[in-house]
Amino acid sequence: MVATAMEVIDPAAGQPLEDSDDIRQIREAVRALCADYPGEYWRQKDRERQYPTEFVRALTEAGFLAVLIPEEYGGSGLGTGAAAAILEEIHASGGNGAACHAQMYIMGTILRHGSAEQKREWLPGIARGDLRLQAFGVTEPTSGTNTLGLKTVAVRDGDHYVVNGQKVWTSRAEHSDLMLLLARTTPADQVEKRTDGLSVFVVDMREALGNGLTIRPIRTMINHSTTEVFFDDMRVPAGNLIGAEGKGFRYILDGMNAERIVVAAECIGDARWFVERASGYAKERVVFGRPIGQNQGVQFPIARAYAEMRAAELMVRQAAALFDNGRPCGAEANMAKHLAAEAAWHAADTCIQTFGGFGMAEEYDVERKFRETRLYQIAPISTNLILSYLGEHVLGMPRSY
Ligand SMILES: Cc1cc2nc3c(=O)[nH]c(=O)nc-3n(C[C@H](O)[C@H](O)[C@H](O)COP(=O)(O)OP(=O)(O)OC[C@H]3O[C@@H](n4cnc5c(N)ncnc54)[C@H](O)[C@@H]3O)c2cc1C
Repeated sequence: MVATAMEVIDPAAGQPLEDSDDIRQIREAVRALCADYPGEYWRQKDRERQYPTEFVRALTEAGFLAVLIPEEYGGSGLGTGAAAAILEEIHASGGNGAACHAQMYIMGTILRHGSAEQKREWLPGIARGDLRLQAFGVTEPTSGTNTLGLKTVAVRDGDHYVVNGQKVWTSRAEHSDLMLLLARTTPADQVEKRTDGLSVFVVDMREALGNGLTIRPIRTMINHSTTEVFFDDMRVPAGNLIGAEGKGFRYILDGMNAERIVVAAECIGDARWFVERASGYAKERVVFGRPIGQNQGVQFPIARAYAEMRAAELMVRQAAALFDNGRPCGAEANMAKHLAAEAAWHAADTCIQTFGGFGMAEEYDVERKFRETRLYQIAPISTNLILSYLGEHVLGMPRSY
């Protein structure tokens, strides 16, 4: 096992970054659950490009996907630190939480900005898992990272909005009942502030499918159940607008820190898995009459990957502690995601090199995890955009775009 326990005090959050007893128990329970879903399970899903339905069901039934939902709506009311621990353990066990991680945090937009009625309508079902809210429609093919340039429009028509446009990379849309959708409600040239004019809706895809909504899977280098979706006069009840019309960009941004923190935790889990596998193999594989790990050319990159992983882990924990204490954490959430994604990628590269030819063989899972962990430098936000955030908002340099 790669050690992760720490006794570092975070002065900003004013609380220790070590695991509480609750989090330690959660980690153990997740590890036990994941033991029923070994490499062969994930390999077969990857090969057949299938959704890990059984695994997601087990996580749901154990309540792990409802940790961020307050107890009054049927969740366990824990913080981002708990969600991060769950996802880290899934990834450290060789699995992949991306199939369902969004069920944990997309609902945060309803929780923070929805009306009392909307929370009562959706949150209990999401907490039970009867209602899947794990599709997030933001990215579009023509605007990409430039969210404010998105073209999907929602036009008010009586007690509905009529939506036209297209999204791309809408992950898990085929395995979700609801979608959180960002669409333009006021043309960009008619708004005072450039961040105004976008609105957030909850779309009931069970009703919309075939009634203006079309979903097409996109096959990618990983098993990610991602899709493109098309809206053709799709009608959404006006009651499904979250918060104020035109303020949706702000609502979406404020959920992004949580997303970056938990995704960073997945990267830490991946890095742990790679370091553990690489160091284990380096101790056992004998070539030229000695374990390959006796050679510093093999040993040092693994040690370096471990150090990078531990450093990134500190930043993930600090970001989670700040978030859970209601403190600003934009810089920390971005740095956590960036450092953890890099640590995971360096660990992946080191692991495949350590395994030599066997790193390429399906049966060791290294090549699958290698492919999977590459995503995190692109999504949910790409490296350059994180660096430009730090350059502009933390270091005060001129805006680059
Ligand atoms: C598997 C997968 C799942 C995804 N899931 C979802 C989802 O569920 N919902 C959703 O809404 N989106 C999702 N995404 C989209 C993801 O968030 C975007 O792919 C990502 O934000 C990058 O946007 P883009 O692909 O349009 O790249 P582009 O915006 O086209 O950028 C291409 C490259 O140029 C760089 N670049 C662009 N502009 C600048 C600039 N001004 N300065 C420096 N560099 C720049 C980018 O960093 C990137 O490296 C997913 C993507 C993938 C691949």
